[in-house]
Amino acid sequence: MSKSDSPSIFSMIIDRKIPADIVFESDSVIAFRDINPKAPVHLLVVPKNPDFQNVSELAAASPELLAELVATAKKLADEYTGGEYRLIFNEGASAGQTVFHVHAHVLGGGLTEDSLGD
Ligand code: AMP
Repeated sequence: MSKSDSPSIFSMIIDRKIPADIVFESDSVIAFRDINPKAPVHLLVVPKNPDFQNVSELAAASPELLAELVATAKKLADEYTGGEYRLIFNEGASAGQTVFHVHAHVLGGGLTEDSLGD
């Protein structure tokens, strides 16, 4: 069960309660296109377990699952961005985190050094 009272928007996607453009799914991880893309390719890679709010919690509790998340990001980047990509974890509202169910942003396609952040 999530630490918050209600399921996160990502849990609702995992449970097929709301639609998403899902590009990958395994027993433990799901990936789908960000609804508000910040790059030509913008995917979100999300562990199905909703217990971890951010990457630090995930790293401390389950380094294997974090490694699987990163490996999935790389696999999808190979498929969708030619293997070059930016991997972002926002942690905390003041850092831009809006969904407190840990997720990796995979951004690619025409990024430059200047496009870091918004
Ligand atoms: P963050 O700001 O790091 O918490 O990232 C949350 C991301 O989730 C944002 O980039 C949103 O655009 C994205 N997002 C929110 N709702 C949805 C949704 N229903 N389907 C796909 N992406 C979403």
